[in-house]
Amino acid sequence: MSELPYSYDAPVSQALFDRAAAVTPGGVNSPVRAFRAVGGTPRFMVSGSGPCLTDADGREYVDLVCSWGPMILGHSHPEVIAAVQEAVARGTSFGTPGEGEVLLAEEIVSRVEPVEQVRLVSSGTEATMSAIRLARGFTRRTKVIKFAGCYHGHVDSLLAAAGSGVATFALPDTPGVTGAQAGDTIVLPYNDLEAVQEAFHRHPGEIACVITEASPGNMGVVPPLPGFNQGLKDTCATNGALFISDEVMTGFRTSRAGWYGIDGVRPDLMTFGKVMGGGFPAAAFGGRADVMEHLAPAGPVYQAGTLSGNPVATAAGLAQLRLLDDAAYTKLNAVSERIQALVSEALTKESVTHTLQSASNMFSVFFTDRPVRSYEDAKAQESFRFTAFFHSLLANGVYLPPSSFESWFVSTAHDDRAVQRIADALPAAARAAAEATAA
Ligand code: PLP
Repeated sequence: MSELPYSYDAPVSQALFDRAAAVTPGGVNSPVRAFRAVGGTPRFMVSGSGPCLTDADGREYVDLVCSWGPMILGHSHPEVIAAVQEAVARGTSFGTPGEGEVLLAEEIVSRVEPVEQVRLVSSGTEATMSAIRLARGFTRRTKVIKFAGCYHGHVDSLLAAAGSGVATFALPDTPGVTGAQAGDTIVLPYNDLEAVQEAFHRHPGEIACVITEASPGNMGVVPPLPGFNQGLKDTCATNGALFISDEVMTGFRTSRAGWYGIDGVRPDLMTFGKVMGGGFPAAAFGGRADVMEHLAPAGPVYQAGTLSGNPVATAAGLAQLRLLDDAAYTKLNAVSERIQALVSEALTKESVTHTLQSASNMFSVFFTDRPVRSYEDAKAQESFRFTAFFHSLLANGVYLPPSSFESWFVSTAHDDRAVQRIADALPAAARAAAEATAA
């Protein structure tokens, strides 16, 4: 059994975790899943339906992780499942072009106006890695600006001061990333435009691009201050660099056109993943046609993938996107606001200091009384309260991201019953947060 606290009531998951740890580093295939930030037994899930997941011990949870964003229609949506079944019956991979890829690319281009051309890949990491390579190839410059607390996947050069799992484990650096790779990355505080302008001043003609999460969700939800994204765009344009907006998390989640649909700031390149794959490995990068045309085989910048544009993944993604109309986003925002209000009400009732931050239907709670505008602010919260809050909710059938540095996600399947179950579980969780003490 785990030596950590809270290893309660999940014997089948624990047995699976023990077996997994023997054959997989840390027992998981993506670090945050291991529950190390909060302790206890990661729940091994066996099925999902609508707003709920069921674990190997037969317990059902209202899911506020939604596979870290993709399951925006809830689990096992009948129309997505039908599209997948229909595609699978025709074959699982051809290694040739297929109409599904064209349809998905057309859907993305029609939704997100700055995307004139798009290349499909299999993960968000591949999308950002390829976008950075393209920006370097296009500008013939080497340096990249990124922001502390923003996570862009496990791209070597972008792991410096990254959010998400890197934040969860407080890793200052990752062994295996060379000095040269890290040396070309300039890490700046989020929401600090002056720092960006100063970096361009210090490195004239050297900076290929600025990459930012369109609205960060990997240090908890920390929206850009008014004018920040526009300032990035303008600074890039003035200095001959490209502005890359990473919409892997926000794309097709925060609106029909993602965060671009909210702030209207026009990037040179954009990256997508999560929602556009319908729960399958599909991601993309795209943008200005004159830049995208530098990609092989049209141009000299190499990029490829055996499973890129996979027919099953593209069918799932297309089915999901086609169901995401304006009414779906209205519904997502409404349920998100209801849950946020319930969380705040419960914490306030127990006098727990907290700040709720949202970006459209994405939100997270910080255990601090100050607005969180940067990674430094996010780290200053009382994370020990989150641990107690998390475990109380888990024990009462509500599944939160197992870290205070992550966004919470809702789906259109989060109905009144799901919201009521969250409401019922919150008072005890708020009490647990109030009573928690730092280790
Ligand atoms: N970019 C952002 C903003 C993300 O949130 C993530 C993953 O969480 C990635 C990139 C990497 O995507 P993937 O995990 O599919 O490689």
